[in-house]
This record gives sequence, C-alpha cells and structure tokens, in this order.
Amino acid sequence: MATQVKIEKKVLSENDRLAADIRQQLQQHGVVALNFVSSPGSGKTSLLEKTLSALKDELRIGLIAGDVQTENDANRLRLAGGQMVQPLVTGGACHLDAKMITRVLPEFDLSRLDLLIIENVGNLVCPSSYDLGEAMKVVLISTTEGDDKPLKYPGMFRRSSVMVINKIDLLGTSDFDLERVKANARQINADLKIFEVSCRTGEGLDAWYDWLRDLVRR
Ligand code: MG
Ligand code: ZN
Repeated sequence: MATQVKIEKKVLSENDRLAADIRQQLQQHGVVALNFVSSPGSGKTSLLEKTLSALKDELRIGLIAGDVQTENDANRLRLAGGQMVQPLVTGGACHLDAKMITRVLPEFDLSRLDLLIIENVGNLVCPSSYDLGEAMKVVLISTTEGDDKPLKYPGMFRRSSVMVINKIDLLGTSDFDLERVKANARQINADLKIFEVSCRTGEGLDAWYDWLRDLVRR
C-alpha cells in the first residue's frame, strides 16, 4: 500500500513538471488552453462542434480530441470546421496526462493559435488529478445524469473553474433538478462559473461563446 502511494506520487509529480512546461510554452505564445472533462455521453464533442462552427472565423482554435479508442470524435470536429484537430487515442488509458500532450503539441503552430481545447477522456475520476498545462478545467454535466454528480465526484468539481450543464431541453423528463445540481456544485466549489445550454436547440450557447471570446481577449 505504502509503495503504491509512493509510485502514484512520483507519477503525479513527473506529470506536474511536464504540465508546467506546457503551460509556459502556451503562455509564451498567448494561447489559452481549456481542459474539457465529463462522464461519457455528456456532450463534450457536441459542445465543441457547436463552438467550432460558431467561432472558427473569429478565433484560431486548436483541438486535441482524446479518446480511449477511435478517432471518431476528431473526425466529427474536423467536419464541424476544425482546421487544427489532433486526435489523441490513449489505447486503453482512462485519462490524458501531460506526457501525451507533450507528444501532440508540436503538431500545432502555437504562434497561430488563440485557443487550445483539450477534450479529455469521458471520466470524472482520474482526469481531475492530471494537470495538462491548461489555464482551466471545464466540467460538463448533462440533465440525463444524476444531479448529485458534484457530490459524488467532488475532486473534479473542485478543480474545475467552469461547469456547463448540457441538455437543458430535456429538463422535466427526469428527476434532474437544475437548482439542486447548481447548489450541489457550489457546495463543492463556490467560485464555479456556470452555463446552462442545449447543444440540440442552441439555447444558452450565446452566453458561452461570449465568455470564450472574452477569455481569449483578456
Ligand atoms: Mg467525445
Ligand atoms: Zn485514468
């Protein structure tokens, strides 16, 4: 047990060192990086498709599409207008780590990017422990999940700066309570910035786009 903990600590401190390196490179080029995390099926790829379609002529967006297997999401994001989409297939690993990002980062010309979006593997547990050099983590939750997710996975909600609640067009079709999920999330992280959107109907997305524009300008 003690050995296990030691190994884990070593892996994480090596990861933090690489992440600090990535963060420095991004800052040098004025690139804002966001690390998108969620359970599988919350709609990360859908939100990113919408975001690319809406902002591709205004912002230079690079995208790293992480998945355990297949490049399906990367292909979807290219079809949505992504010019600079890099698939990152983990081949079984349930999270991205800084070493993987270090490997794909040279594929991007950072001097020609405003925003780098990293779509993590769908998993609310270990991606919370791996710093990828991002400016912030964005956690997605959809109304088809339990509204107690923030309480079940506090690490992820504590380490995220933004929470996007997706599929609000489906509110009322289940026991998911919008006010309760927000209260649960704020109990874990009072500073969480919250968006309520539907990628299907487009509701709420304008506020999300405005926030992204502001973030890049700052
Ligand atoms: Mg996806
Ligand atoms: Zn993992």
